[in-house]
Amino acid sequence: MRKIDLTNFQVATSETARDINRRIVLNLILSNEPISRADLARHSGLQRSTVSLIIEQLIADRWVTEGANGRAPRGRRPTFLHLNKERVGVIGINIRPAETTVALADLRAHFIAQETFATADDAKRFIADLTKRLRNLMRVRPEITYEGIGVSLPGRVDADTNRLVFAPNLPWKNVDLKTPLEQATGLPVELENAANACALAEVWFGKYALGVSNLVAVTVSEGIGTGLILNHQLVRGSTGLAGEFGHTTLIEGGIECRCGNRGCWEVYASNSAAVRYYSESATTSRSGRSGSKGNHTALNFQDVLRLAEQNDTKAVQAIEKLAQHLGAGIALLITGIAPDAVVVIGEVTRLWNKIGPIIEDTVHSRARSGAKTQIFPTDPSTQPRLRGTIALVLQKYFGAPTVA
Ligand SMILES: [Zn+2]
Repeated sequence: MRKIDLTNFQVATSETARDINRRIVLNLILSNEPISRADLARHSGLQRSTVSLIIEQLIADRWVTEGANGRAPRGRRPTFLHLNKERVGVIGINIRPAETTVALADLRAHFIAQETFATADDAKRFIADLTKRLRNLMRVRPEITYEGIGVSLPGRVDADTNRLVFAPNLPWKNVDLKTPLEQATGLPVELENAANACALAEVWFGKYALGVSNLVAVTVSEGIGTGLILNHQLVRGSTGLAGEFGHTTLIEGGIECRCGNRGCWEVYASNSAAVRYYSESATTSRSGRSGSKGNHTALNFQDVLRLAEQNDTKAVQAIEKLAQHLGAGIALLITGIAPDAVVVIGEVTRLWNKIGPIIEDTVHSRARSGAKTQIFPTDPSTQPRLRGTIALVLQKYFGAPTVA
């Protein structure tokens, strides 16, 4: 139960009740379509007349369509209701330090179109390019009703100013993305940290999400991000910066991090860490032993990953070292939060058969919460960051409302 916040509350009106019921009906259609009005009344416990009124409104707002007549054992044949998937579109933007993807999705987060381009170092140039692409995307599909834009960022967004404030892996400083994108498209824009977006993607579209009320998403890329969902709510903290476990000290006096601290978790468990482990071992073997070939310093994470997939010993060791440190941080999260699930997102999950057992072992030997937390990877092909941006927009219509 939540304490009523007397500085920020909302009294219940008849509109509140209508809004709650409308959301319940919309969710029942989402998970049971095609469904008749009679079944909606049965599932929800609402009066038939109330269901009919809500459906009338949802059809007028283009969220729902009526389809074919169903069969009934007797009496009038019911009309089946569907979500209006093709007519409603959500735009998702996944910004990463190297590249950005813009995509158009339907109500089930199926992507209809997408394009990827290099992320410019200059924020102004980037925004100009992005708005041009967004306008084009919308212009070629005028039949779609666009509901909004969700943006996933490799940093944190200030809750009050909506500016990007903490993005150690991006060269931009204090950027306002929301205003120019809203002005260019006329659509509402929701900004979110990538790890939070992934946590939302899991809750809204993931295969293990049903019945999970406490979930931690750990994104492993250039850095490490965590998104926390506790008691079904995304945790933002007082500043919007909650979840920066990647920048908590794992090793006292350790290697310097781009954030300015030393020994941060992400310095030891991110993609960049694996590249460093690999080049360190390559350097050692060059100076110490014979048999090392070529110059390894130019390798990037994709190369190390590919080599590890081919069972290259040094690459496998580098990935295993990443996994040990990933496990150490996850053990900390599990001990502290006791979540139902930890989901790991990132290219490194392609090697889950190698890293999964290491993470499990490390967690098993360290975590003390007693929680039976499931740890599982997401399939990179589901594009979790991008799917999260769609959830950002859809949760405004499908999510549970906050009242009182
Ligand atoms: Zn750091």
